[in-house]
Amino acid sequence: MAADPAPAPTRSLVILGAGYAGLTVAQQVHRLSRGKIPIVLVDRSPAHILRTQLYEIDRIAASGGNLRRWAVPLASVLEKTRVQVRTAGVERVDLAAHTVQLDSGTIEFGALALCLGSVAAYYGVPGAAEHTHSVYRLSTAQRLATAIREMEIASIALPGERRPRVLVVGGGSTGTEIAAEIASTDWAAVTKPGARRPDVLLLTGSLPFLVGFPPPLIEHARELLVRAGVSICYGWNVTRVEPDRLHLEDGSVLRFDIAVWCAGLQAPPTVAELPVRHGRGGRILVEPTLEIPGYPGLFAVGDVIEFQDPKTGQLVPATAQAALSEARVAAANIVARWNGTELQAFSYRERGAAVSIGHGAGAAALDRLTLWGSPAALLKRLVQRDYSHAVEQGETRRVL
Ligand SMILES: Cc1cc2nc3c(=O)[nH]c(=O)nc-3n(C[C@H](O)[C@H](O)[C@H](O)COP(=O)(O)OP(=O)(O)OC[C@H]3O[C@@H](n4cnc5c(N)ncnc54)[C@H](O)[C@@H]3O)c2cc1C
Repeated sequence: MAADPAPAPTRSLVILGAGYAGLTVAQQVHRLSRGKIPIVLVDRSPAHILRTQLYEIDRIAASGGNLRRWAVPLASVLEKTRVQVRTAGVERVDLAAHTVQLDSGTIEFGALALCLGSVAAYYGVPGAAEHTHSVYRLSTAQRLATAIREMEIASIALPGERRPRVLVVGGGSTGTEIAAEIASTDWAAVTKPGARRPDVLLLTGSLPFLVGFPPPLIEHARELLVRAGVSICYGWNVTRVEPDRLHLEDGSVLRFDIAVWCAGLQAPPTVAELPVRHGRGGRILVEPTLEIPGYPGLFAVGDVIEFQDPKTGQLVPATAQAALSEARVAAANIVARWNGTELQAFSYRERGAAVSIGHGAGAAALDRLTLWGSPAALLKRLVQRDYSHAVEQGETRRVL
């Protein structure tokens, strides 16, 4: 693998984003074309970020800044390939001119894979972006971990029995994982003796709790969450956030020391501003081949797309598992375009979902099998470990 940033041949495949989608596209195209297609992989981070593990906020807080568990250097992942890694921010993509404006210059591409992931969606709620934390990026998860450390150390001096309070907004799997992780951590061990266990409240908003999971499993997840020490507040959306309180639709006001926003995702601005057809949250509506309509040879993969599976009529979820699956088809189609052979249509098969619910507990649904408690936690840990081990070895995985 070459280092930064020799000029790329004009006909290069340029991959924007080295997350689950982008890294897999790079590895698969390199493998399928036997290294013949020149590939430039661009990301603002020099590491592949294991975003699905960013709920491990207690470990991040205790890491002392050693983030290797969540950030695998791209240089080592791709060292046995000829993929060129370029560490740069993507500012603007011109699909018609085949150019990408980076924060450090402009590059041209022959083929493109747009894999820039997603960013928090605040739905225009005033104050939400300014006064809440998020775990969608490693840097923001780190900031949250630092804030919790500080809150916990300050809690030693709180009057009477008062405990610090954390509000988690969003009752999907990210909100559930974060709330449970914060509530079930022994913060006195992570920070200082005497630090008080925080009150953790999960606000599900108007969407059902853990929407998409099988109903019996949702009940088990709810019980586990309460056992982990999380209170759940159903039904009302957040209308406004101030530095130390948030307002709900029913007029109630909830105070907090820390608020975490897990209420949804949308396409990054670079993607939302492209002159193509967009679905919800600015995601790109792609062809069955995962090409951007009107731009043969230019693909979009992962959280940046909205894809309705023609076989099932279902929307493919914005998950790492779906991104890995799409990336394999996009890679095969990039190579097919290169060779002038037939492209294949993408169809998604969900292999299951697992959510961590505090230390040593979880809930998982695999085809007709449901697991909860420690077996689900073990399954989640094994799948995560298998993926990170594969990445360390420069291999790819289908499941996460
Ligand atoms: C806490 C948490 C837990 C999750 N758990 C699961 C799970 O258990 N299973 C599951 O399947 N999914 C899970 N997900 C969802 C999953 O993480 C996403 O669906 C997945 O990351 C999408 O992959 P992607 O490649 O599209 O985007 P990403 O993995 O986010 O990659 C996008 C890449 O683009 C780069 N990038 C973005 N903008 C720019 C720019 N302007 N310039 C340069 N680089 C840029 C980023 O640095 C990043 O490397 C979880 C998400 C979170 C937050």
